[in-house]
Amino acid sequence: MPILLEKDGILKCIFCNTQAEYRCAACGSAICEYHSRYGRIYGYNISKKNEYYCIGCWRVERNNIQKTKVSKISLISGLKKIGITTGDNILTQSSISCFGSIDQGPETIIDALQLSIGDSGTILMPAFTFSQNNFHFRATKVDAACGILPELLRRRAKSTRSNNHPLSFVATGKNAVFFINNAIKYETLDELSPIKRLIDKNGKLLMLGVEFNNCLPVIYADIIFSKNRQQSCGKKYYIVEDIAKNLQSYKELIIGEALCRVMNVGELVEAIIINLTQKPNLFNCYNNNCRKCMSHIKINRALFDNNKCKEL
Ligand SMILES: [Zn+2]
Ligand SMILES: [Zn+2]
Ligand SMILES: [Zn+2]
Repeated sequence: MPILLEKDGILKCIFCNTQAEYRCAACGSAICEYHSRYGRIYGYNISKKNEYYCIGCWRVERNNIQKTKVSKISLISGLKKIGITTGDNILTQSSISCFGSIDQGPETIIDALQLSIGDSGTILMPAFTFSQNNFHFRATKVDAACGILPELLRRRAKSTRSNNHPLSFVATGKNAVFFINNAIKYETLDELSPIKRLIDKNGKLLMLGVEFNNCLPVIYADIIFSKNRQQSCGKKYYIVEDIAKNLQSYKELIIGEALCRVMNVGELVEAIIINLTQKPNLFNCYNNNCRKCMSHIKINRALFDNNKCKEL
C-alpha cells in the first residue's frame, strides 16, 4: 500500500525535500511521487505487489537485471507457454527493461511476437502523444511513457498508426486497419476506441513486465462503468491483479526477469465491471486530496440518497 505519511507528521523526500508520499520498500527512505517507482523490481517478486521504491534503489536493481540475457528463442518458447498462438490479436503493453538484456535489442521482442502469431495475427500497441503538441500520425514519436516497443513498431514499414491524437494506436498484421479505423474518433478509451474492436475480435492482453496501474483494458472498464461520473485516478488499479488471476484465460510466466502475463481482454473487462457493480468504490483511493476519487464519493452519496432502498 502507498504509505501516506500524514500520521507521522510531514516527512520530506530525501531527494528533493518536498512533501513525501511513500516509503521505499528497499531502503525505507521517504520519497515524493516524482522520485518513486512503482511495482515489482524483479518479475518473480510476485508477493511484493504494489510496492514503491526510491529512484536510487530502483536503478541499482535495474542494473542487476541487465546481467540476465534473453534470446529470441527463449522469448518465442515463453510466449508459446503462456498461450500466444497463430492468428492471435494481441494488445501489448511492455516495459522491456524488466527482461534483462535482450539479444540484439528490443526489436527482437517484436520479431518474436510476429513469429508467434504469424501473418493471420495482429499486434496492437498504445502510441499515445500526450507530450506532443503538433501531431502527425506518420512523423510524431510515441510518448516514452508507452515504452519503447510502440515507437519501434511505428517505424516498421508494414505498421499502421491511427490519426487520433493524443490516444493514437499503432498496429501491424491482418486486422491492423480494422483496429486502427481512422474514421472513428474517440476522446477517451471508450466503446469507440480500438479496445472495443479488440474485444469484438476476442483479443488478448499481453503484459510484458508491466503492472495493472496503466493497463488499458482496466481504464476502458473504468470508463465504461463510470459513464455518469468521473473515472478514478487509477492509483488503485493494482487490485485488478487479484481479479485477473481468477480469470479462466489468465496465464503468467517469467521470461528473463520479466513477469509476462496473458489474458482475454473481454473476459478481464467483464470481470472488472462485475466487481465494480458490486463495489462502485473499488478503485477509490480515498485520498482527501484526490479530486477525481472524492467526486465519486459525493456522486455515490447523492445516488444513495435518491434510492435509499438500493444498496450501492
Ligand atoms: Zn522528491
Ligand atoms: Zn530506496
Ligand atoms: Zn484517487
